[in-house]
Amino acid sequence: MDTHPDIKLPDDLIPADGRFGAGPSRVRSEALVGLGISGTSIMGTSHRQAPVKQLVHRVKTGLRRLYDLPNDYEVVMGIGGATAFWDAASFGLIRRRSQHCAFGVFSSKFVDVVRAAPHLDDPEVIESPVGTHPMPVANSDVDAYALTHNETSTGVAMPIVRPTDGDAMVLVDATSAAGAIETDPATFDAYYFSPQKALGSDGGLWISLMSPAAVVRIEELAASERWCPAFLDLRIALDNSRKDQTYNTPAIATLYLLAEQVEWMLQLGGLSWAAERAATTSGHIYSWAEASEYAWPFVADPAHRSPTVATVNFPDHISADTVGGVLRANGIVDTGSYRKLGLNQLRFATFPNVPPKDAEILTAAVDYVVERL
Ligand SMILES: *Cc1c(COP(=O)(O)O)cnc(C)c1O
Repeated sequence: MDTHPDIKLPDDLIPADGRFGAGPSRVRSEALVGLGISGTSIMGTSHRQAPVKQLVHRVKTGLRRLYDLPNDYEVVMGIGGATAFWDAASFGLIRRRSQHCAFGVFSSKFVDVVRAAPHLDDPEVIESPVGTHPMPVANSDVDAYALTHNETSTGVAMPIVRPTDGDAMVLVDATSAAGAIETDPATFDAYYFSPQKALGSDGGLWISLMSPAAVVRIEELAASERWCPAFLDLRIALDNSRKDQTYNTPAIATLYLLAEQVEWMLQLGGLSWAAERAATTSGHIYSWAEASEYAWPFVADPAHRSPTVATVNFPDHISADTVGGVLRANGIVDTGSYRKLGLNQLRFATFPNVPPKDAEILTAAVDYVVERL
């Protein structure tokens, strides 16, 4: 148990909703209430029947509209979150060798998956120090480029570009970007994510927006000699998604919350609206940190700063863990930095479900705590 001083925040420095975690992240109360009201017609019912299939369909059509996907792109789903998708991609999307931009915990985990896969060559890894991002480099020896739109562990976002116009796949981990950072579908072949981050739903599912070239690659590898566990078989996931189903039982509440969230965003102005809101909320935190006498933005280059996960560093004499502990005792939760990085830092998710006003209250609360330590 962390010990921290007993500092009580005044009421006007406690946001109405204190959830600032980067995932699972704030789920809108309206969506949770909606699940409570209408849940009995879907929760506890067969996922092979129309009501749950309609949910899957709503998710597919909603994401298609949110991303303005070309007609020949497909929305594919499976169980297991982005972590399972890495394994699936190592079987069904990487032909022989991939190139990875590695700049934090999540982008590095995909590298580990590929390195351990006996059927793949050692990947090419382009690294950069935490707090920055590298760029992919065209290489005719690789058949897939692995990018991470937003490195959730460090709060760094990278631009998504297609390094070559050959048939190499561009695979983008968009877990904390999807629903909050704009992207041109022409730049990717698989844009995959879990729904418990910017999309304000719950975990357990992966979703991938797939280009026609990705479908061709999946079919090519499915027809090859390579063995693939059925659970990770993207050909099977594709067949099921086309029928508004998943291979095995999905978390129905996750699908419901996701469908509601995507439609909520569409009603308010779609991806551009959501992206602007996240940029405004994070922008407040970055401006506050830049002006602060004690804290500063961890990501030095403003062009690398994530609009959805803002990381703020503290000097040695102020323990970020202590500040985070006081915040938690006051109902402001999950502001800790990514443990494995060992930085004296707080990390605030500024996904579209966090109103910009909450960021103002939050930074005032941090100032209040630090003044009283
Ligand atoms: C959270 C996260 C993941 C892992 O998601 P799971 O749903 O836990 O599998 C992968 N990549 C990024 C960028 C993430 O933020």
